[in-house]
Amino acid sequence: MKMNMSIECLVTECKYNNGTEKYCTLNRIKIIKHGEGLATSNEITDCASFECKN
Ligand code: SF4
Repeated sequence: MKMNMSIECLVTECKYNNGTEKYCTLNRIKIIKHGEGLATSNEITDCASFECKN
């Protein structure tokens, strides 16, 4: 499985995750923030390219 060494990701439940190496296999991803306000912690950001494996 190819992997993008520029995108390390621990979300092994995602169908784009290379489970053993823990890298994303997409060429690019989209990151969003929750809500309209300022992002003040990493909990407010999220990967919008995530798709569940199952
Ligand atoms: S799409 Fe997002 S959540 Fe899924 S493996 Fe890539 S970086 Fe991780």
